[in-house]
Amino acid sequence: MSIKFYNTLTKRKDEFQSITKGEVKLYTCGPTVYDTAHIGNFRTFLFEDLLKRFLLLKGYKVTHVMNITDVDDKTILRSNSDNISIHDLTEKYIGLFFNDIQTLKIIPADYYPKATEHVPEMINMIKKLIDNGYAYKSDDNSIYFNIEKFGKYGKLANLNLAEQKKTQRIATDDYSKDSPQDFVLWKAWKKEDGKVFWESPWGKGRPGWHIECSAMSNKYLGDNFDIHCGGVDNIFPHHENEIAQSECANNKQFVNYWLHSEHLLVDGGKMSKSAGNFYKISDLIDMGFTPEALRYLLLSGHYRTNINFSVDKKHEALKVVQRINDFYERLLDLSAKCDKTGALPEAYNLFEKALDDDLNTPEALAVFFEWLRKTNAQIDDNSLKDKDIISAINFIEKFNSVFDLIAKKSDVPSKITELVKEREEAREVKDWAKADLIRDQILEMGWIIEDAADGFKIKPILEK
Ligand code: AMP
Ligand code: ZN
Repeated sequence: MSIKFYNTLTKRKDEFQSITKGEVKLYTCGPTVYDTAHIGNFRTFLFEDLLKRFLLLKGYKVTHVMNITDVDDKTILRSNSDNISIHDLTEKYIGLFFNDIQTLKIIPADYYPKATEHVPEMINMIKKLIDNGYAYKSDDNSIYFNIEKFGKYGKLANLNLAEQKKTQRIATDDYSKDSPQDFVLWKAWKKEDGKVFWESPWGKGRPGWHIECSAMSNKYLGDNFDIHCGGVDNIFPHHENEIAQSECANNKQFVNYWLHSEHLLVDGGKMSKSAGNFYKISDLIDMGFTPEALRYLLLSGHYRTNINFSVDKKHEALKVVQRINDFYERLLDLSAKCDKTGALPEAYNLFEKALDDDLNTPEALAVFFEWLRKTNAQIDDNSLKDKDIISAINFIEKFNSVFDLIAKKSDVPSKITELVKEREEAREVKDWAKADLIRDQILEMGWIIEDAADGFKIKPILEK
């Protein structure tokens, strides 16, 4: 069965063919590190993780690059207002970003190039654009891309240039999304930039945001590569401008497949600090969400539909994840006493087919849960044969290589392990009141201790 992805460039589901057999080159736009990434950013990063895990499941070798935007208008503004160097500011948020990546079990990219470490590559690309007649210098020594020179400008975002007014130039990174204008490639130094500048053939200044992804993807993946992703807000102007820069500098099609994930809404709307629903991953973990519950909530909706996040969904998500984990443990217990060979159950083909069809995760999960329900019933009435037990384990492990919803024992948060230790100490000195109090505290945080004759288990569940 062939793989199909909805390609923003062609506006239809295209059959996927990699440029080199068995290998995929993937570029995903990374975070702008002036603040902590939020749950919305992680919807996109988790979609990209799912795409990569799916390609690995299909046997591809994947080379994945994610840039880190560590210089732009926002980072400079923030470093000025917080009165710290741009380097210290961005290092802090890069550290937090990698913590969150690890928490959510996102497979790390092969390269995380930083914009500040690739300025010479960007200068070279701008030089090429000037030499090829696509870029010009303005009075203040900034360099702009002339969109009129590139006939295909607008092909990704479906813009009709003839109907647009295109007289203005845009110098900032953060500008209105509906009117195409000449955009900045190199920004001449201004007083507000302080110590943030690089020398260039056009005087001191710094690169614009778009050129960083064109230059860095080129360095690590070449002139033409397979897949480029981001959230839908990246389509215009960012990705449209990347295409213009790369294709005019290299005279080649830039990317074959463009995949974009829809936005995450929170409580039905845009997240906002004033509404108190602007969530970071660490906030949600403190509220008792497990990494698996967050993965489930963010991956169970199709990537091309809006999904609505709400903390009210915690209970339900924890329960679903618990069900999968209990089922897996049950199978492992049964497998201890049977022969280790077995194929894959029939349901697996349907599961893979759903993912082949533009990563249809809701359908893949529906197939998986239906199979889980039936298999559980077979275990209940002792009708599951030895070879079926092994093939069931094979399925759940393949399932998990894509969704990663099985919690390792060590995934219990350190705060919970500390409380469990305190509770044990209280029990040893027979301080039952204190032990009960700690147990309640653990419950409040969404975890339960199940005492047994030979010890205890800690489970992420809210049921009291
Ligand atoms: P930024 O750090 O703003 O450059 O964003 C990093 C990534 O997160 C980009 O691919 C954005 O498209 C994506 N993104 C930003 N906000 C949301 C959201 N609410 N839902 C989904 N993706 C988002
Ligand atoms: Zn980018």
